[in-house]
Amino acid sequence: ERVALEAYKDVTPTLADGTMIEVAANLGSLEEIDAAKEAGAMGVGLFRTELLFMRHMHLPSEDMQTEIYSTLAKAFAPAPVIVRTLDIGGDKPIAGIEFAHEDNPFLGWRGIRMCLDRPDIFKQQLRALMRAAVHGNVKVMLPMVSQLSEVVRTRELITECEAELKEQGVQFGAFELGVMIETPAAVLIAPQLAKEAAFFSIGTNDLTQYVMAADRLNPTVAGLNDVSDPAVMAAIELTAQAGRQAGIMVGMCGEAAARPDLIPHFLRMGLTELSMSPASIPRAKKVIVEMSKATN
Ligand code: PEP
Ligand code: MG
Repeated sequence: ERVALEAYKDVTPTLADGTMIEVAANLGSLEEIDAAKEAGAMGVGLFRTELLFMRHMHLPSEDMQTEIYSTLAKAFAPAPVIVRTLDIGGDKPIAGIEFAHEDNPFLGWRGIRMCLDRPDIFKQQLRALMRAAVHGNVKVMLPMVSQLSEVVRTRELITECEAELKEQGVQFGAFELGVMIETPAAVLIAPQLAKEAAFFSIGTNDLTQYVMAADRLNPTVAGLNDVSDPAVMAAIELTAQAGRQAGIMVGMCGEAAARPDLIPHFLRMGLTELSMSPASIPRAKKVIVEMSKATN
């Protein structure tokens, strides 16, 4: 099977109607770039920035972040790289940010919630991303969004960052701002979010745990943690529909994006980007090619 999959690495998969599907990579560090390109990644659909923050004994500086995001952007240009802003919570604390004890860290101070409470940290990351945008096709997405105001507030911070960089005479570019759909709240306000977001990326790992109210790390309720449950599939469908109606791209970057049995369902819903760990890319491309042959 390995050899057969090799043949799909460099394929650009399209549906029977000609729609191109972007099969992209989920990455957590620059060291994984080569493996992703090797596997045929058509871009990066999720660059997790947590590792970058967890690796050091201090917060990474704006300059250091600029260098890392620029390297990523250059490696894939002109293909898009979607960088997710810091998604950290009390379950994985990092040096430089103090977390109070929480009984339910997954329902607590994490992702965009933490970032908006710490604009000092958040704006450094946003400025670094704006500076990196000069070097390629950088897109940015926000994790754990549950309210429209979180996106609006982020846009205000971006405007502040622009003014600051201009004032300092630092070169920067614009990036598209997208929203991760991984809370039931985000699904339910997806039509409103779609007016503020350039794209959606569905985070099925968290969306499943929140829709099913089943901790993704608790083996006792692992049976409920099933993305193919009708409730989760309905949430994905609602998101896809809201995106379609607003004319924005809808992608997926949770583990489910790599599932051969589900990919055809997601594509029929109108998703046009699937992002996954590099090793899964050739197989996903094969599934798409076969699906489009079958409907031709
Ligand atoms: C997700 O929740 O599906 C996701 C892609 O993000 P993470 O697994 O990093 O929470
Ligand atoms: Mg998530």
